[in-house]
Amino acid sequence: MQLYCDSLTEYKRLATREVRIGDLLLGNFNPIRVQTMTTTDTMDTIATVEQSIRCIEAGAEMVRITAPSKKEAENLLNIKNELHKRGYKTPLIADIHFTPNAAEIAARIIEKVRVNPGNYVDKKKFEQIDYTDAEYAEEIDRIRERFTPLVKICKEYGTAMRIGTNHGSLSDRIMSRYGDTPMGMVESAMEFLRIARHESYHNIILSMKASNPQVMVQAYRLLVNVMMDEFGECYPLHLGVTEAGDGEDGRIKSAIGIGTLLEDGLGDTIRVSLTEDPEFEIPVCRDLVKRYTNRQSELEKKQSGIPEIIKVPYSPFEYTRRSTGTVSNIGGKQVPVVVADFMKATTIRHEDLQAIGYTYNTETDKFTIADAAADYLYTGKKILDFALPGTLKVICDHATWLNASDKEKYYPLFQSTEYLKSTDHSGLLNFVAVDVNEPASGELLQEIRNDDSVVLCLYSSNAHAMPSVRRYIIELVNQGITCPVILAVESHDTTIDEQLIHFSTDSGALLLDGMGDGVWLMNEPEKLQNQKVSGRTYLETKNNHQFINNTSFSILQATRTRISKTEYISCPSCGRTLFDLQETTAKIRSMTHHLKGIKIAIMGCIVNGPGEMADADFGYVGSGVGKITLYKGKEIVKRNVDSTIAVEELINLLKENDAWVEKA
Ligand code: SF4
Repeated sequence: MQLYCDSLTEYKRLATREVRIGDLLLGNFNPIRVQTMTTTDTMDTIATVEQSIRCIEAGAEMVRITAPSKKEAENLLNIKNELHKRGYKTPLIADIHFTPNAAEIAARIIEKVRVNPGNYVDKKKFEQIDYTDAEYAEEIDRIRERFTPLVKICKEYGTAMRIGTNHGSLSDRIMSRYGDTPMGMVESAMEFLRIARHESYHNIILSMKASNPQVMVQAYRLLVNVMMDEFGECYPLHLGVTEAGDGEDGRIKSAIGIGTLLEDGLGDTIRVSLTEDPEFEIPVCRDLVKRYTNRQSELEKKQSGIPEIIKVPYSPFEYTRRSTGTVSNIGGKQVPVVVADFMKATTIRHEDLQAIGYTYNTETDKFTIADAAADYLYTGKKILDFALPGTLKVICDHATWLNASDKEKYYPLFQSTEYLKSTDHSGLLNFVAVDVNEPASGELLQEIRNDDSVVLCLYSSNAHAMPSVRRYIIELVNQGITCPVILAVESHDTTIDEQLIHFSTDSGALLLDGMGDGVWLMNEPEKLQNQKVSGRTYLETKNNHQFINNTSFSILQATRTRISKTEYISCPSCGRTLFDLQETTAKIRSMTHHLKGIKIAIMGCIVNGPGEMADADFGYVGSGVGKITLYKGKEIVKRNVDSTIAVEELINLLKENDAWVEKA
């Protein structure tokens, strides 16, 4: 095992125990299963059955249903019977928080229960408690006493269990000892897992969800590492990013977290949590999983092996940015740059730059610059016939650059062999494109080692692309080469979701490990012409440059490497939600999307919402029928506000806390 997976260079699924959920087998190299969760009231049997059927028809292999109390747990029997009557035997999962009684009922009825170790026994009071070792051991005994009955029921009934840790709802005990950390998340699950193993119960799946993909990825990796150390084996992993939000941002965040782990062979089942109807989550899950269905055989067919990594020069369990030199505004301590690719544009006009964040005013002859404005424009063989804003520089092909008069605005792009042969380099900044799949010539590495004007643009023609680029960057680190790196990812996928997933995984996975000083995304826009996706129609209003620019900035935002907009943490909603979460999220987004860097949580219920809204600055949380409670951080500031005025009250709260600016 290489730290947390079987290989950092070959595609290999992690070997795990096999778990049975009804007739469904999971883990131990079984296909990666996809699942979702209903949003209906669990007491509304027919609505829940019908939504479950829509999810199953869309491809869900398991359906989770909330069981907040005994009566909902009991109603799972009616739901299960009705589904069976209609010919659907898909395993059901009861989602449990705070209510062991409900779990014990559900475990006798349906195929799987999910417990949250942060709140199964503990009630969260946000207290900092200094435990002695003896007091801590007493706490574990208390958990054992309360959790063991459920384990015994599951064992007796053949019911599976997910021990599902959430970053936002760690118990006060864990927070006091480990803090709000990936290690705290791992230990939270391990406490419960040890109790289950003691009872020789192994029908267990684990999850480590967080709304921050960086924390989520580190926690899963650490969990595998700790399980291998302690037990010499792993339990299957359920992957997910919580409160990912909706639309493109929700897909991007999910793909970065889930895709990063799938690339390394981790993950046996996935759920993409979107603030959309649950059946819309399934196609995204399937797009994520299908990237790996044939990866091993594709690699064998093409014999495109990646050289082994002997020394891993960074910790995959914590974030450290690769140390590089600074070349112009790239690398060092500067935020990653965004390159807008206009190579295929036949002409480039002032107004075309609006799609990448620069709005031209003909009267003043000036550009207004948005927060998410690209830093570089790649023009291929074109030189522009108008002056660009000061923050936008041009990359063009080397031969074209030779004819450019403004060498402080235009910079050359070389292919690697071209760079070695040519003596006409820019004295300031040279971009060198490298396919990492081509064996890096010692000569190129020698040259760039001694040239502090080089920025590498790395791409890969390998089917296992991200690990091959990672391998190359690791080689740079091991050889002490500090030139900045731009991650160039090209998608030939034919749908918007596939492209989002591809871009997010291949660049996001590296950014999470501190690798990459910029992103350069490319696609084939003609493949997306007139495409509509259920529930979303974004290509109707955007052109392809805008799509790519937004995707680039969203990836940087989701990896927390460059903040350029408001961040929304919205739960997917479930049977506990008492207001229209999708509509409310859209309304809040429309009024606050210009508040760069502010994190706003929109959560369906007061039971789990406050705990799970993670590190949001402000929270809008359902607290009863027609009632909303507003938070500043973890603190309640306005309780039970009438929902008809709650969004306005949220805006007032932002204003009172100097977090509001008027829209430009
Ligand atoms: S926070 Fe949202 S998804 Fe979580 S339990 Fe509450 S309503 Fe359901």
